[in-house]
Amino acid sequence: MPSHHQPTYTYILAGGGMAGLSLAFYLNQSSVPFDSILIIDQAEKNTRDKTWCYWSDQPETFDAVVQHSWNQLWFHSFDNRSDKFSILPFSYRKIQSDSWYAFIQKELKQNPKIQFIQTKVLGFSYQGRCAQVRTEAGDFTATEKIFDSISAFPCELENPQHLKQHFVGLTIEANFPIFDPAAAHLFDFRIAHTPACEFMYVLPTSDRIALFEHTYFSGQLKEKQHYLDQIKAYLFGAYGLSEDDYLVLEEESGIIPMTLSEAEPQNLHTKVIQIGTSGGFVKSTTGYSFLRTQRKLKELVANLQTKHWGAPVNETKPFKRWMDRVFLQVLVDQKIKGNKVFESLFQKNRPQLILRFLEEQTTMWEDLKLMTSVPTLPFMQAAFKIALADLPFPKK
Ligand SMILES: Cc1cc2nc3c(=O)[nH]c(=O)nc-3n(C[C@H](O)[C@H](O)[C@H](O)COP(=O)(O)OP(=O)(O)OC[C@H]3O[C@@H](n4cnc5c(N)ncnc54)[C@H](O)[C@@H]3O)c2cc1C
Repeated sequence: MPSHHQPTYTYILAGGGMAGLSLAFYLNQSSVPFDSILIIDQAEKNTRDKTWCYWSDQPETFDAVVQHSWNQLWFHSFDNRSDKFSILPFSYRKIQSDSWYAFIQKELKQNPKIQFIQTKVLGFSYQGRCAQVRTEAGDFTATEKIFDSISAFPCELENPQHLKQHFVGLTIEANFPIFDPAAAHLFDFRIAHTPACEFMYVLPTSDRIALFEHTYFSGQLKEKQHYLDQIKAYLFGAYGLSEDDYLVLEEESGIIPMTLSEAEPQNLHTKVIQIGTSGGFVKSTTGYSFLRTQRKLKELVANLQTKHWGAPVNETKPFKRWMDRVFLQVLVDQKIKGNKVFESLFQKNRPQLILRFLEEQTTMWEDLKLMTSVPTLPFMQAAFKIALADLPFPKK
């Protein structure tokens, strides 16, 4: 039982970022009974530190705060082939974190049972049937569950075998109209001069404002200046913009794990449940997690509602997981340049099929069709390497 002096809540959300606040939002809308929820975050969540994009062919929960959306996407290959695809009925949608935080906090703060505290979480512990969060502001007890979105996901920053999506992005405003806000550039591989998978990602939101992100899917991180120099060179090379021609409005950066969790799958019996990036909600082959997190958390809340305690928290079908492992191994091995893989996919398949594939919504037949469209040898080598690694040889 909780001690008399410790503040006690039904649920505690350790981490009030994208996953923590989303979960609070769905709990608040649900019929899951609770006396109180505490959301703990060390930061004041009101900044534009991230832009979240996702694609969907249906209305989604947070569409009200979408800043811009696109029905057309450019794909530029290394050999200068450029294709503009219509992705209808999908659209690619962009949310700015500050508007999202404001929207969701306004909603949550209307419920006096939901409280916020700004402090640093130091750890978790168990006491009887309860669990505790230790923080710099004292200890807090949860009678039901703690949802942890702060623990580090096992992806080593210095380990080249651990793939990461790493990027620096600049939102710039050009002095004159030069962008087409009707189409986003998902991959521009014309800059991919190294064996690593590197590309520019461009989101124009008006004819003068666009976000440019120099992005890698690779194990080795770069100095910040490197990404900035690449963006500067790209603005000049692709748009003829020299530094006098634009103003930098914002900067963002990220390192997103592109590794698969080896941890045992969690279910709702667990007292401390990891969610968001900590819980392995990121799609390892793309680094996207916004929409997946919404779907997984809605499912989690539905399972809490029906007391389906055995329900897995983050389930991936074994075949999809195997495909992700092979795909990641291909990117790590670099026997083929990463851009070649994406180029084959986009040049040989309808973009709608690829978007469904990346969201794990394709059937096994569609997956097999997609697999035949990528260069087979490096994929077979990667699959063989994985099969070998899985053999039950005694480990030293
Ligand atoms: C710049 C950037 C852009 C991205 N863009 C996209 C995108 O376009 N599409 C997409 O699908 N995904 C995107 N992602 C990936 C992913 O959606 C985000 O990282 C997302 O924020 C993950 O949600 P989360 O809740 O797991 O982590 P976060 O949103 O980072 O939340 C974790 C919270 O925990 C808090 N915290 C950490 N440690 C402690 C502690 N010890 N004590 C108290 N609080 C703590 C942090 O302050 C933070 O608020 C992006 C990531 C980054 C970094």
